[in-house]
Amino acid sequence: CGIVGCILKKEKAAPILLECVKKLEYRGYDSVGIATLTSEIHIKKDSGKISEVDKKVRLSDLPGNMGIAHVRWATHGIPTKANSHPHTDCNGTVSVVHNGIIENFKELKSDLISQGHVFKSETDTEILPHLIEKYMKSGSNLEDSVRAALKYVHGSYAIAVMSSLEPGKIIGVRKESPLIVGKGDGEYFLASDVPAILKHTKNIIYLEDDEMVILEKKGITIKNKLGEIIKKEVHIIDWTP
Ligand code: GLU
Repeated sequence: CGIVGCILKKEKAAPILLECVKKLEYRGYDSVGIATLTSEIHIKKDSGKISEVDKKVRLSDLPGNMGIAHVRWATHGIPTKANSHPHTDCNGTVSVVHNGIIENFKELKSDLISQGHVFKSETDTEILPHLIEKYMKSGSNLEDSVRAALKYVHGSYAIAVMSSLEPGKIIGVRKESPLIVGKGDGEYFLASDVPAILKHTKNIIYLEDDEMVILEKKGITIKNKLGEIIKKEVHIIDWTP
């Protein structure tokens, strides 16, 4: 029901992501999870209240200064640890958080299963890391793989994706679900809404449907559906939540 992602300078990402997802609590949720990326992906997640899950698994105890996080409002698959986000591909090289509903996931899932992919959850979301992995395996970079995968997806989504095969990058895309970008001083964020990240930056870019943001240590790039770089206005938020 809400997503967050960040690339920080030196600070650990998980405690900041935890604090940001707590600000998304009001949207309603049944599960929570965080993935961070060093040379590999690290994940902690479970169903339950943020404070309970945190007590149980210590969500902020993950290494690395970049990551993605999710609070889930289950639409496909009951609230369980396996159905909580982030989801990964078979090898744990691609990690995805998703807000929304993938309407044609059943067809995509049975295609992927017939190609040898093994699924761990009942969610619609899990097809995304598998599809992205499939394109990366065939030689595409992360950005092109995300674009290729989304061509097959019908429904609504705000997603954040990272891969250990291409570290240092978080890709966000939206369609009919909200997604905003925060441009701090050498620190970059994406989130479902402004209050989640306002403590860290007041410089906000509003993404439109089908726009993609690429967060990297060196900065932010925004592209349209065709993969062309576009210029977007940065809004300075002068209200406090
Ligand atoms: N449809 C996805 C699921 O059930 C995402 C739900 C959400 O937006 O939190 O896992």
